[in-house]
Amino acid sequence: MIDRLRTNPISLRIWYPRLVEDASFARLLRQLQRIRADRVYLFDNGYMDNFQLAPATLAERLPVLTKRIAQLRRAGLRAGINSGATVGHVGDMQGAERLLDLDWWVARNGATLPGIACPLGRRFLRWMETYFRRLAETGALEIFIDDDFRLHNHGGPSRGDWGCFCGLHLTAMTKRTGRALSRAALAAEIARCAPGRISEEWIALWKANFRDLLARIEKVVHAVNPRIRLGLMPVQNFIRDFGEDFLREAIRVVSVGHRPLLRTHDYHGLPHEMFPGSGLAAKRTAPPEAEHVVEIENLAHNVHECQRSPRTTRYAILSALAVGMGGAAPTFGDSERDMPWEQAYWDMFRANDRFFRAVANLTLRDTTLRGIPIRHRAYQRQVRYMDCRENVWSDALREHPDSLAAHFGVAYQWDAHPVWLLGELPSTLTREELAAVLNRGAVIDVAALQCLRRLGYGEQLGVEPGDLVRYRRGHRFLPHPLNGTSGGDINALRAPFPVFRLIADPSRYEEVTEFVSWTGRRIAGGILVQKEGPGRNVILPHALCLVGDDATGIMNTQYRRLMRRLLAHCLGEPLKLRIETPPRLAPYYFERTDGAVIVTLLNGYYDDVYGFDLVFGDGARLARKKVYRVMPDGRIQRRPTLRLRAAADGACRLRIDSRNALKNCDVLTLLLAA
Ligand SMILES: [Zn+2]
Ligand SMILES: [Zn+2]
Repeated sequence: MIDRLRTNPISLRIWYPRLVEDASFARLLRQLQRIRADRVYLFDNGYMDNFQLAPATLAERLPVLTKRIAQLRRAGLRAGINSGATVGHVGDMQGAERLLDLDWWVARNGATLPGIACPLGRRFLRWMETYFRRLAETGALEIFIDDDFRLHNHGGPSRGDWGCFCGLHLTAMTKRTGRALSRAALAAEIARCAPGRISEEWIALWKANFRDLLARIEKVVHAVNPRIRLGLMPVQNFIRDFGEDFLREAIRVVSVGHRPLLRTHDYHGLPHEMFPGSGLAAKRTAPPEAEHVVEIENLAHNVHECQRSPRTTRYAILSALAVGMGGAAPTFGDSERDMPWEQAYWDMFRANDRFFRAVANLTLRDTTLRGIPIRHRAYQRQVRYMDCRENVWSDALREHPDSLAAHFGVAYQWDAHPVWLLGELPSTLTREELAAVLNRGAVIDVAALQCLRRLGYGEQLGVEPGDLVRYRRGHRFLPHPLNGTSGGDINALRAPFPVFRLIADPSRYEEVTEFVSWTGRRIAGGILVQKEGPGRNVILPHALCLVGDDATGIMNTQYRRLMRRLLAHCLGEPLKLRIETPPRLAPYYFERTDGAVIVTLLNGYYDDVYGFDLVFGDGARLARKKVYRVMPDGRIQRRPTLRLRAAADGACRLRIDSRNALKNCDVLTLLLAA
């Protein structure tokens, strides 16, 4: 089992240019020792040359990497390599096409994207074998295969997305489907993102290709040194496109007897974000013994032009540790040379060493995270929301399903019911799966409803989006008894905001809200619920991703309560409460095998929080436990002023006083034990 008190949960990633000069490397090594680092990942590239390395460039860099890895080992650090690119990240990387002779990726519109290789190309596959063999020869003990093998993010939706459409790919598809489609016809079919023979074969082709690539890499690397751990980097796109089963298979192919190693995606976003990337999805999917290190990006290009300060870097790391990921791999500083201002980051790492270890260890060992109910595949990070009346497409950045726990400020005991269908549906959902979800009952937002109708489920659902009505300030959803929010209106939408008039058979659906103007005039019905089963679907007349406060995106209390009622309605049973917090906090609830409960609370907002109650549903189990807190120095200390007290309905409550305030941009970790 991984012990994070004895091993450092932080493994920094260092760009290649920082390794070249002896003096620069010596400074780096001193800093690493000062922060008690025991593992680092060396990039074989810099940020400025983040593409396929040509043979000559690689040959120049290998001796440097080999020498630094040996020096690190002598200093007691384990060194791994982060390969800069496999397929390549984005097209048009200047000069790439002059340096490597590969078949390049061809976009949907027929444009060649030099800098991204077509992964079916023989020369590419042979080059990957050479490249990874060379990396293995450096003495690295861990090698990460980069996250650029995916259908998306290769140069924008109109160009590099949905995969490579070169001659090799067209031929391979003709062979699989028995139908010769033109590039335009194939691209149009794939971009429809609808289940069907063509898209199933497309995904199967890419999986077979990736399986082949991984098997080749595994073979050449372990021929050099069987002790090398090969790591995968499953980003959201990868899991969405290829599915969780395939991730499991990919892990098996590269791990061969080693503890699986996964680097998942950062919580890309602004400093106050609290939305996990692919980490929790990968953790659910990977075998329990796997080691996870969450990528913490800290360059302007990756965090929405907002470089993280030492404080927000700390928060991003703690956010990963607080959900039980157990490790983080941050970058920080300048990719080309060391800068005086970087000292503040080194100081932060040193000051938080014991705290990071304690939080990581407590949430990682013998624990099960409860109450994160939403399957990754039922929700996409990036969707296109169509305003069909005005025929305007706009991209909305969608958060990960696990972040719904943060929206609700509450965690319930659920199994992984796929009860959400939100936004454009992922291409890995098959027709059978979709039919099963609809039969069981789901919360369906209007974007998913449009998608389902395109796929031919209109009849089964018996509801369609009619006119578009603009939500403006002052418009409200009036509640219905079902939502039990006697407190007042649901005024939770951002304005202006598209809401659809839903057209449904009144014998099959009932309204649970009414959409009215500020004078109370009825504009449209609001949310619909299906009256009879088997599935009791709930239809939202708007896209769920856009619900929330204009500034923060946080749902208000009334809307969150309504969503809980609707979910209970879908599931046909009341939800069992695990923990409830004030709305802005994200609670994570772990059960440990010895009966203890661990709670981590994230506060990503610029305000300290105290003087509130945590409500725990399982009072019978918890009411007599003592409360301990992970202190900034890493000690786990009994806190006499934190006392659990029994409450109504078998719940119990815990008052968080000012002495135990949850600071802004911070995490509070509590242990409830005998
Ligand atoms: Zn990346
Ligand atoms: Zn191709």
